[in-house]
Amino acid sequence: MIYKRSSALFAEAEKVIPGGVNSPVRAFKGVGGTPIFIKEAKGAYLYDEDGNRLVDYINSWGPMILGHAHKPVVDAVIEKAKKGTSFGTPTEIETKIAELAVSMVPNIDKIRFVNSGTEACMSAVRLARGFTGKDKIIKFAGCYHGHSDSFLIQAGSGASTFGTPNSPGVTQGTAKDTLLARYNDIENVKEIIEANKNEIACIIIEPVAGNMGCVPPKEGFLEGLRALCDTHNILLIFDEVMTGFRLAKGGAQELFGVKADLVCFGKVIGGGLPVGAFAARNEIMNYLAPLGPVYQAGTLSGNPLAMAAGLAMLTELNSDAQIFNRLAEKTEYLHQGIAKVLNENKVVHTINRTGSMISVHFDDREVVDFDTAANGNNDTFKTFFHGMLNQGVYIAPSAFETWFITDALTYEDLDFTINAVNEVAKTL
Ligand SMILES: *Cc1c(COP(=O)(O)O)cnc(C)c1O
Repeated sequence: MIYKRSSALFAEAEKVIPGGVNSPVRAFKGVGGTPIFIKEAKGAYLYDEDGNRLVDYINSWGPMILGHAHKPVVDAVIEKAKKGTSFGTPTEIETKIAELAVSMVPNIDKIRFVNSGTEACMSAVRLARGFTGKDKIIKFAGCYHGHSDSFLIQAGSGASTFGTPNSPGVTQGTAKDTLLARYNDIENVKEIIEANKNEIACIIIEPVAGNMGCVPPKEGFLEGLRALCDTHNILLIFDEVMTGFRLAKGGAQELFGVKADLVCFGKVIGGGLPVGAFAARNEIMNYLAPLGPVYQAGTLSGNPLAMAAGLAMLTELNSDAQIFNRLAEKTEYLHQGIAKVLNENKVVHTINRTGSMISVHFDDREVVDFDTAANGNNDTFKTFFHGMLNQGVYIAPSAFETWFITDALTYEDLDFTINAVNEVAKTL
């Protein structure tokens, strides 16, 4: 394929935007080469600036669960835009989408809208700290909760249980309040809680991890966290920015039957516009300003265009009883097809999948946490990525990302993809 215009646009972008991108993973650092500039998209396909068609498995990193430029969403945004794009006052549509979200998701009474998943997670942690009167949080290595300071933490050295910053600009003072645990390792979480008695406000987790490739929770792990939180008066935060309105109407809480105290949303909830949200039962949400003492605000929060897109998206998902089964079936079909051709070509791999999230790891050991996710052969991944791109299939340019299945994908598209994997597998 030819990427002449993309390359030229990237060169221009690099002069005025750091690294030519507004979010680092777009820059292809993990796989080499220059990013593809997209001109437009429809359904399951992206069309780049050079006129190439790509079958899309990124789907804007999750939001486009019904495909690109989905008509009801686009129409809702256009109609709203004609009436003014922001007022900074309450609007009826905010209540409408809040009512719908509360009716779809278990264990929440109230929801507050923000502008990104980062903001949702950052605000949920502040609320958890304010509500419990405790400072420390537990997060899991390999889970991503956005780029706010408290989350940019890596494991501390040696025997220390507290983390250290993994980005310059994050202070030691912030890092010491974030404790790092191993995903799927309940004993490790117990140890950390024991070592920090009565100091932990919350545990925040991706109930199905999607930011180290797809890593599902082991049976009993989420239930184990729930029990520990109950025993130690800790709030359990499900970061459902990726899984919310994707794995089920009610997200991972519904799928696994485990109750969270606070839930964070982003991605699908905004239908492709910048939206995040966090939600909980009344007791917790009433602790938020203006009702309670924990401050949180936003000039463009609940923006009419964003709410129109989100409401149209949630309405579509809520009215289609088969959508989540259909997505899971398509994903299983893809899983089996890819496994078959990789096996035929003797390519060592492990495929993880939950619902419409799937990832291919180039290692034959089980992938259950960040360390095992890092076992994968990254050189194989790079060759695989560029090979797939050349075949007209766009997967995330990093071995640590999940593929997102959209309902716009037909079985023909899935066969096209499996065939592309077969072609690329011959070169691995
Ligand atoms: C994408 C993501 C975030 C961050 O959301 P942004 O809208 O990019 O700020 C947080 N948590 C999870 C689980 C995510 O996948």
